[in-house]
Amino acid sequence: MEVTRVLTDPTGMRQWSTGVARQGRTIGFVPTMGALHDGHLALVEAAGSHADAVVVSVFVNQLQFDQRVDFDAYPRPIDEDVDHCRHAGVEAVYAPTAAAMYPPGFDTRVVPGTLADRLEGAARPGHFDGVATVVTKLFAAVRPDVAVFGEKDYQQLALVRRLAADLDLGVQIVSVPTVRDADGLALSSRNRLLDGPQRLAARCVPRALAAVTRAIRQGVDSPRAALDHGFAVVAAEPAARLDYLELVDAATFGPARELRPGSVRLVTAVRVGEIRLIDNVDPFDPPPLIEQIDV
Ligand code: AMP
Repeated sequence: MEVTRVLTDPTGMRQWSTGVARQGRTIGFVPTMGALHDGHLALVEAAGSHADAVVVSVFVNQLQFDQRVDFDAYPRPIDEDVDHCRHAGVEAVYAPTAAAMYPPGFDTRVVPGTLADRLEGAARPGHFDGVATVVTKLFAAVRPDVAVFGEKDYQQLALVRRLAADLDLGVQIVSVPTVRDADGLALSSRNRLLDGPQRLAARCVPRALAAVTRAIRQGVDSPRAALDHGFAVVAAEPAARLDYLELVDAATFGPARELRPGSVRLVTAVRVGEIRLIDNVDPFDPPPLIEQIDV
């Protein structure tokens, strides 16, 4: 099996990438915060089908955390992550230290526009500035031709597309549908932090999405009336607390005024204990695992 290089600072990463480019090979890049699961591995596979060499970054970016406890609790099984990458044929893992990314005196932010104002941006002040800043830095070190992001973080995906276009970064952005557990819960590194009862309670997230999509399929045509079906599901789960459940315009993330196929996204964030879970679907074309849920 190929050796997977592990690079820990921007200079080493850039040198490696320059070498690959000199060989006339393209680079596909998957940025992650580690604790890799099958969702991340689906992104790796997509990167491999769009480019010659795949680079995965593993960096828990403190700039995008609005809560210190969430940052501290975030799982960091780096040896396991490198093993997963090796098995998946990843050529380089970029795992920079915090000191290499944000040395003393670091004082620059990439600030996204209006796409970052609502939903996750409103719930987590500064979050998307942190995302846009780290993605820009990672792109500068890795110099990818293609970068792959998950639909799981739908607003982030839209924002990164905007960032790459607006700043002429020359990186093609590819997206991958959300990978789910058998009960419909979206895979997430934070799922590792759920205990047994919390993992069961977390089922209310895909169930709420299923309830709203079902209501729409059955002809409910007002966003508010459709959402009520999802609110009821989360309200019935004592261990869960709803942050938001909204039908939004898929391009602007403003509230959807009417329910029209192709232009609407159903998005949610739910807290189970201290763990915040996010998810989203196209309510007019939900994934089979959501459609199958009995609500
Ligand atoms: P994270 O490590 O959670 O920051 O995620 C890194 C990348 O993996 C992001 O582009 C996410 O959208 C993507 N991702 C996370 N979970 C999933 C999933 N269940 N299915 C597909 N992509 C995912």
